[in-house]
Amino acid sequence: MNLILFGPPGAGKGTQAKRLVEQRQMVQLSTGDMLRAAIASGSDLGKRVSGIMERGELVSDEIVVALIEERLPEAEAAGGAIFDGFPRTLAQAQALDQMLKGRGRQIDLVVRLKVDDEALLERITGRFAESGRPDDNPDTFKVRLAAYNQQTAPLLPHYEGQGKLVEVDGMGSIDAVAKVIDAALDGVNA
Ligand code: AMP
Repeated sequence: MNLILFGPPGAGKGTQAKRLVEQRQMVQLSTGDMLRAAIASGSDLGKRVSGIMERGELVSDEIVVALIEERLPEAEAAGGAIFDGFPRTLAQAQALDQMLKGRGRQIDLVVRLKVDDEALLERITGRFAESGRPDDNPDTFKVRLAAYNQQTAPLLPHYEGQGKLVEVDGMGSIDAVAKVIDAALDGVNA
């Protein structure tokens, strides 16, 4: 089972991914987490991406595709991947389709978490106060949201055309959203 959790920053992708990891033994592949780990380790990659991430812009397709490729075998061995924050551009989506195809796999389900912009800003402001993640400050958040609307949201027709898209009201409680995601996953498994 390969699942994409799709939605703008603050939609709850990470929260739902972590729950699924515990309950379904899948592997969370968050390119944001991988990039933050690279920055924390002081690696060359971290140095290349830190400024871009601080500004809220997207890092290159080449970098994130390579990160995902490296982790795919691990996810496959565990029984499936939850893609969180990837793909974010059409080129990334196409690269992912190809990578999976080459391994005899595919994306089985894309769950879109729909949350309105005001609620996102409120959530991110709260997260900024709690964790102090630099790109959660309100100005950078606006850049991230614009990147989502301009570069990522256009992927929706790609997955809709493949009949894989399920839309979920992400404004509900964590449990309510979880129930809808579980039903969609069980529908694919059935
Ligand atoms: P996230 O934690 O998913 O919100 O990602 C944090 C930041 O990492 C983003 O604002 C981008 O700068 C970068 N990033 C994460 N995933 C991607 C991706 N798939 N493509 C390009 N940039 C990414």
